[in-house]
Amino acid sequence: MLTDLNIDGRIVYPTDADWDAAHQAFNVRVDQRPLAMVFPANEDDVVTIVNHARERGLRIAPQATAHNAGAYHSLDDTIVVQTSDLQDISIDPGARRVRVGSGVKWERVAPDLSNHGLAGLHGSSPDVGIAGYSLGGGIGWLARKYGMQTNSVTALELVTADGRLRRVDAENEPDLFWALRGGNGNYGIVTAIEFAVYPVEELYSGALFFPFARASEVLHTWRELLPTFPDELMTWANILHFPPLPEIPEPFRGGSFTIVMGAYLGEEPEGRELLRRLRDLGPEIDTFAMNPPSELAELAMDPPDPLPFVSGHELLEELPGSLLDDLLEIAGPESGSGTSLTMFQLRHMGGALARRSPGAGARATLPGEVNLFTLGVAEDDDAARAIEARIERLVEAGRPYQAGHYPNFVEEPADARAFFDAETWQRLREVKALYDSRDLFMGNHYIPPAERAQQAA
Ligand SMILES: Cc1cc2nc3c(=O)[nH]c(=O)nc-3n(C[C@H](O)[C@H](O)[C@H](O)COP(=O)(O)OP(=O)(O)OC[C@H]3O[C@@H](n4cnc5c(N)ncnc54)[C@H](O)[C@@H]3O)c2cc1C
Repeated sequence: MLTDLNIDGRIVYPTDADWDAAHQAFNVRVDQRPLAMVFPANEDDVVTIVNHARERGLRIAPQATAHNAGAYHSLDDTIVVQTSDLQDISIDPGARRVRVGSGVKWERVAPDLSNHGLAGLHGSSPDVGIAGYSLGGGIGWLARKYGMQTNSVTALELVTADGRLRRVDAENEPDLFWALRGGNGNYGIVTAIEFAVYPVEELYSGALFFPFARASEVLHTWRELLPTFPDELMTWANILHFPPLPEIPEPFRGGSFTIVMGAYLGEEPEGRELLRRLRDLGPEIDTFAMNPPSELAELAMDPPDPLPFVSGHELLEELPGSLLDDLLEIAGPESGSGTSLTMFQLRHMGGALARRSPGAGARATLPGEVNLFTLGVAEDDDAARAIEARIERLVEAGRPYQAGHYPNFVEEPADARAFFDAETWQRLREVKALYDSRDLFMGNHYIPPAERAQQAA
């Protein structure tokens, strides 16, 4: 089917011996079933692939690492083009600019940036690809101060449906640049990303670990403190059940904890004062210290390897005490959930996440005071169903306060128009129609070209 496609990179079909590894998603419950997985070795390959697919009426789903592969509605008649082999990195510390190939994960740049006294706006896991994270939003430890990563993107290089390699930025093809920053893989195959990074020599970061049983008092204290936290402080309140795996160190292995994690762009005395009420509760373990920004990559203790899971998420306008009680009734120590919800996480939002900066793209801000994200590791379908039911109860409890959804945290098929206001959605469709009227590209959260969307409506 792609027999006359000649590229330096790899093409892997479902019948090939290396199919399992090639089509593996980070969530191993997701079984991607495209016609083929294609791994371009360079930009010329990307141009060849785009021309080939267009001429044969195939569709392309661009991908970097398959961390959000569960969102596609269907990959029928589609090739997944994974840019994981585009691994160039150049860092200009003086200009505080980074340019990476679109297969680069945060773990390859965060340590070098840190050595230069700089930090990028990565999220909880260093294993996530810069491409999908940046094209969909990107909420990390510094987001209340510097906003989403997508606002820090200064240029994108991509191959569009006509087979042209373009570099777009605020001056060159500004509409496409606007749409890409939020519109994910619907506009072309991104080959490189340029973005701004920030001066951070050190910051006060760490985690306060409490027993799971104390979830209510710890999370209520955290909730009460939120209005007092400056934009320089980001905190996430978690319930985490660590699996009993040998690679997990004691005393965490097999343990259940209530944890407040945080990163403060400032000095230790002020940081300690901001967290005083939480520390006064007497954590079992306190890892807060002045750290280089490289430490942020490990702060959330995200799993480094693919695993089977079911996740759920919603943005909450606010977190009143009564809602927190309701959520804990479903996920807390008295809930009977045991360890089925491996992670229950409340991220503080607001600050720069709520402020639109001049020249921002389609996804400039996110609403809500708190971001609820939860997941359960599901070894089989029965476990998955039980987790889904509990997640549905959490989402239902939050519904009266629901402010929306953050697409990068939506890991199942969804109607992407719900992620944008009507005006932004319309403009995204119009830019799509301008650059990809025949709908060659399909992002994980799909945006149809304007005319097609109107016909469908
Ligand atoms: C363990 C884990 C931790 C996470 N932590 C955070 C966090 O702290 N903050 C946060 O904001 N998000 C977080 N996420 C969500 C993450 O931002 C999304 O999963 C994101 O889509 C991942 O991007 P990717 O490139 O790695 O994944 P992919 O699945 O490869 O890409 C996702 C989508 O991005 C687009 N895309 C990717 N590469 C290209 C390309 N080369 N050209 C065009 N389009 C492309 C496509 O639409 C693709 O479907 C986390 C996810 C996981 C699994």
